[in-house]
Amino acid sequence: QDKDWQFMVRVRAPAGRLTAAQWLALDALADEDADGTMRLTTRQGMQFHTVRRGKLRHCIAAIEGMLLTTMAACGDVARNVTTSPAPRRDALHARLEREAFNLSAALLPRTRAHHEIFLGAEPVGAAEEEPLYGPAYLPRKFKVSLAHAADNTPDILSNDLGFLALTDAAGEVTGWIVTIGGGMGMTHNKPATYPRLADPVTVIGPDEVESMARAVLRLFRDHGDRSDRKHARLKYVVAERGLDWVRARLAEDLGRDLPPAPPLPRLAVPELLGWHEQGDGRLWLGLPIPSGRIADRPGTALRTALREAVARSGADPIATPQQDLILSNLRPEDREPLEALLRGHGVVLAEDLSPLARWSLSCTALPTCGQALTEGERVHAPIVAQVQASLARHGLLGERLSLRLTGCPNGCARPYAGDIGVVGRSPGVYALFVGGDFEGTRLSFPLADKVATDRIGETLEPLLADFAAGRAPGEAFGDFCHRRGPEALRALLRPALAA
Ligand code: SF4
Repeated sequence: QDKDWQFMVRVRAPAGRLTAAQWLALDALADEDADGTMRLTTRQGMQFHTVRRGKLRHCIAAIEGMLLTTMAACGDVARNVTTSPAPRRDALHARLEREAFNLSAALLPRTRAHHEIFLGAEPVGAAEEEPLYGPAYLPRKFKVSLAHAADNTPDILSNDLGFLALTDAAGEVTGWIVTIGGGMGMTHNKPATYPRLADPVTVIGPDEVESMARAVLRLFRDHGDRSDRKHARLKYVVAERGLDWVRARLAEDLGRDLPPAPPLPRLAVPELLGWHEQGDGRLWLGLPIPSGRIADRPGTALRTALREAVARSGADPIATPQQDLILSNLRPEDREPLEALLRGHGVVLAEDLSPLARWSLSCTALPTCGQALTEGERVHAPIVAQVQASLARHGLLGERLSLRLTGCPNGCARPYAGDIGVVGRSPGVYALFVGGDFEGTRLSFPLADKVATDRIGETLEPLLADFAAGRAPGEAFGDFCHRRGPEALRALLRPALAA
């Protein structure tokens, strides 16, 4: 007897931008074809889980009918292009959004096979050409992001390719620092694999984003390691060949000299949740979405609340790289009724959360991710609660720090680039990482290797106590861990790990 197959269907949404009509159509599809939930991803996309085989073609065709696509949301191609989700109505944010949409279209494979298989289009035949990807596509996935220094919400240095905007006094983009070679994935006990942050490689003019992205993609296509998928990411090419080699290859491809990059400016991650003015008389409301899961649960009808909020206000939703949701283009008079509606459905607003809960991310992991070694989303709340309790015991509950949880070392929730990384090791067991920074500019280091789910808070507690007692004025937790170093912090943990 044939298996009862089920699928995950991921929507490609450049910059996370959706219209109100698209949101309502996606919401309806969650019931029609999936498990009644939607899930915002850490790349500003949206996923449906548990789409049964018989529903698959309908689901994908319905998404195309919304002028969205599932094409190249997965696979060895350029993935969803991310950028700052803030709907600020100024030249800089308009440019970031425009570049994200343009790159997303420019880097989309040209094949019509997707349309043949899922949309009933004409057979493509054997002679189809793929001018950018070639016949074998890329060695592995290729992640692209754009940001500006005051908003590194998308963690551009965790991407294969990043464009950091340089601006003049009027906020117009004058150029881009190009960062290459980031990636989070690694394999436990395989030292040849490691997380890496991208390096600034060169600087380009304001209108050269697409040509540079095509050149970097070609470099990866032609020089990535196709013999070993664990070693196939662009970051290994950069680490092993060096920045000068990368710059020289790109210069050769583009037929012009490329200057070395200037040092990166200091990056920041601003608070985008809560109420903000867009700059055009309208407002946005940023809502925390734990693990990105939009569902109706006992006591919290989040999906219903969002559907009603979007239908009544006409808000255009934006998925953020933090798995949260921004409702944009709200009128000032929407504010009170919208808050009442959300509260009436039990929706938790950002102001109700501790900074740790607000800044925590979690991947899906079990039961729907085939790579998962252990739980992610389903243990997210209990793990946050444990660490919160430890923070509270040391007067740190108001401290802004990030926690990122994944069910395997592939690192979809970027666990090696925040304050605390919790990475699935085996069933019910996690490796802990600390020493990264909140702004995503420094990698964390391994702290403890095998910690049971229910002991994560108590394992971290000696560090938190040490931080509370010994931090420099204004020092953040990640910076403190980095200053103290792995040896000193592991020594603090020994009694807790031995118990
Ligand atoms: Fe990604 Fe691993 Fe989490 Fe699956 S279990 S979503 S592959 S990090």
